Amino acid sequence: MSKPIFAIVGRPNVGKSTLFNKIIGQRISIVEDTPGVTRDRIFADGEWSGKKFTLIDTGGIEPKNDSEILTEMRNQANLAIEMADVVIFMVDIKDGLTAADADVAAMLQKSKKPVVLVCNKSDSPGDVPMEYYEFFNLGLDEPVAVSSIHGLGVGDLLDKVYSYVDFSKTDEIEEDIIKVAVIGKPNVGKSSLINTILGEKRVIVSNVAGTTRDAIDTYYERDGQKYLFVDTAGMRKKGKIEENIERYSVIRSLAAIDRCDVVLVMIDATEGVTEQDSKIAGYAHNAGKASIVVVNKWDLVEKETNTMKNFKNDVLNGLPFMQYAPSEFVSAKTGLRLNKLFELIKFVNAQNAVRIPTGVLNDVLNDATSMVQPPSDKGRRLKIYYITQASTRPPTFILFVNDKELAHFSYVRYIENKIREAFNLNGTPVKFIIRERG
Ligand code: GDP
Ligand code: GDP
Repeated sequence: MSKPIFAIVGRPNVGKSTLFNKIIGQRISIVEDTPGVTRDRIFADGEWSGKKFTLIDTGGIEPKNDSEILTEMRNQANLAIEMADVVIFMVDIKDGLTAADADVAAMLQKSKKPVVLVCNKSDSPGDVPMEYYEFFNLGLDEPVAVSSIHGLGVGDLLDKVYSYVDFSKTDEIEEDIIKVAVIGKPNVGKSSLINTILGEKRVIVSNVAGTTRDAIDTYYERDGQKYLFVDTAGMRKKGKIEENIERYSVIRSLAAIDRCDVVLVMIDATEGVTEQDSKIAGYAHNAGKASIVVVNKWDLVEKETNTMKNFKNDVLNGLPFMQYAPSEFVSAKTGLRLNKLFELIKFVNAQNAVRIPTGVLNDVLNDATSMVQPPSDKGRRLKIYYITQASTRPPTFILFVNDKELAHFSYVRYIENKIREAFNLNGTPVKFIIRERG
């Protein structure tokens, strides 16, 4: 379920990425399993004391002068205030207190978000420099001295961050709510979609249990089903926040995807599938979420006999890793087919959560392997002993085999297709883990 989000904010070069990497360690994999799709090194899941969290490094833009630094820091701070449960505000003990630090500290304080102040580059423990005491002037809690490079004080820092999180509350969203993220490039129609949906039938479920992210999410009910549209802050009010800064929109998309069950990947019908679309869709795929390709602005397209069919092909070609995702052709402006969209959301959500009993899975496996023999290499043949489903969201299967090397991608894909066929399993990515059994 929903993990707490922590965001690191601070001036350039104070050591934000260094801390980020120290905390996340090996866990972050840069190259994911989809060719051409990398996960940006600014957003990752971590674990501390047996509890999971999401960490965001909000920085990364290289400002040229002091006024740019300030603007950049204010943007970072706004993003962090809006999205994070706890803000980690980092300062550099070697530089001492700067005017930009004071400015941002005031912003953070005003927001009432929990803030943990970190004095980075405190490389020699026990030897506290005078500069440390300057930071008490910020009016925040006692600073935690940390050396990110040497990993000193990082545990204390995380303990302090955790002290602000009510982990019993991170699970509070009711199970029967479907969480939906709307993602897509600027101007594709995300805001229009949310506004049309909400305007059309204004049954917003009142404040469910006071979640920490009420300010950015929207509850909605339709035909007896509850939905939570995640990260809609910039969509409901017009005048969007930092949408034009690529890095911030990537952070927003990743966070929204992380927290949702179903992703609506919006494509502009007047432009077709672009590279940027494919990158954004790749995030949803890698996260194992159920997706629907929502082709928007269909009202603007001149239709001939095969227009929709051709566009469907374009979608399949443009997003080859997402063959399982159904597509729907809508108009956020006129409301065209938004009804059908909700049917699809329920469908793919159920698919993403499906659980298949081991017995029937193995029946399908046996049929599949007798129909097409597993491959062999240098006289050794792949044996698949059995299959079991390890988890849901996405459905994840473990294949126990004699030799991993023999389990070629194409044969695993064949098994996948057989399983999809047998259980009518569409609308969700699935994962296969290959394990050797001695
Ligand atoms: P960011 O711009 O805030 O993400 O900062 P970086 O993580 O890129 O770090 C900026 C510089 O500070 C790099 O040269 C780091 O090696 C250095 N640095 C980061 N943490 C520490 C630390 O704890 N001690 C010292 N001495 N240097 C550090
Ligand atoms: P966002 O940046 O993804 O939130 O996109 P907006 O919702 O702000 O939409 C960008 C522009 O496209 C606005 O001028 C909308 O009126 C227009 N737009 C959005 N959806 C549709 C649609 O379905 N049909 C038409 N004709 N215009 C649309």
